[in-house]
Amino acid sequence: MTALLEIDLGAIADNWRLLDSMHPGATAGVVKADAYGLGAVQVAPALLAAGCRHFFTATFAEAYAIRACVPGAMLAVLNGVQAGEVAEFSAQDIIPVLATLEQLATWRAQAIRLGRALPAILQIDTGMSRLGLSMADAELVRLEPARLEGLRLDYILSHLASPEQPQNPQNATQAARFARVMQGFPGIKTSFANSSGMFLGPEFFSHLTRPGAALYGVNPTPGCANPMRPVVRLHAPILQIRDLKVGDPVGYNGIWTAQRPSRIAVLGFGYADGFMRALSNAAIARFDDAPVPLVGRVSMDLTNFDVTDVTAKTGDWLELLGPVHGVDALAAQAGTIGYEILTSLGRRYQRHYLGV
Ligand SMILES: *Cc1c(COP(=O)(O)O)cnc(C)c1O
Repeated sequence: MTALLEIDLGAIADNWRLLDSMHPGATAGVVKADAYGLGAVQVAPALLAAGCRHFFTATFAEAYAIRACVPGAMLAVLNGVQAGEVAEFSAQDIIPVLATLEQLATWRAQAIRLGRALPAILQIDTGMSRLGLSMADAELVRLEPARLEGLRLDYILSHLASPEQPQNPQNATQAARFARVMQGFPGIKTSFANSSGMFLGPEFFSHLTRPGAALYGVNPTPGCANPMRPVVRLHAPILQIRDLKVGDPVGYNGIWTAQRPSRIAVLGFGYADGFMRALSNAAIARFDDAPVPLVGRVSMDLTNFDVTDVTAKTGDWLELLGPVHGVDALAAQAGTIGYEILTSLGRRYQRHYLGV
């Protein structure tokens, strides 16, 4: 018996509807990295059914994998387009988010080759120093509009570096720079806020918001109550229970030893399933509603929990992720963020989709 990962597509749809209701513009669904590890082929149709008509992936392969799942919807690739890929993009009706003047020229050449206007999205870097045209390149495009000829510019997009930190002055700086760029492109629609950005206020919304993590239950407002519904539940059966004497060590290197006569439950998952080794001696599972601490090192395929204080027996299930103890809590115990917990969720878990 293996660990069971339940993914609630109904909760994802509800989360999208909540985010969409927050602002007058359109709300995309970011489904990159296989919908943050939850399965883009399952998640994208659920979002489409909820009303989502704009989708973003990171790569062309990810977009191609869901093109048939979201008929008629806009499907765009955040990581842009390389010279050898333009024909595939246009043939599949997949839009590149253009990040350089070279990509812009390459995509425009494809439009000329095909003799039809191709849709395009331009990314401007407003201060993250990641993908996107520099402010100077954006100014060049404004001064030389021929660079856009043959293209239908659907959106100009920018991405926030620190939106989960509402006090971080970087947010206002980026918003001001984005507004300045957009003055040069009157009438062109904007796409700005990600999940956390949507909670910074109306000046961050734009015509097309791009939430990802919040759809999947990650708290977009760290430090405040999570407005999103939980989406994932991970639980696993106990394979064996061992009775330990005081001083008995548990797991590789014996980094935990019994301080009292203890009952240790062995479960069949580990870091090969994305249950990170950094969770050694740190995670807390639940049995019914009682906390059950992880003890010793997480190994590749096995992990130990101290069930001394509960009545758990072999074959009973412990909950690793759930409504009470969600991705953000587990992330804190691993020293990472909910995003990484989700995108690390293993392929060996038995997956069960709810709300379909
Ligand atoms: C990942 C990503 C998003 C979604 O971000 P979340 O924080 O998951 O909401 C939006 N835009 C870009 C450019 C991204 O890379």
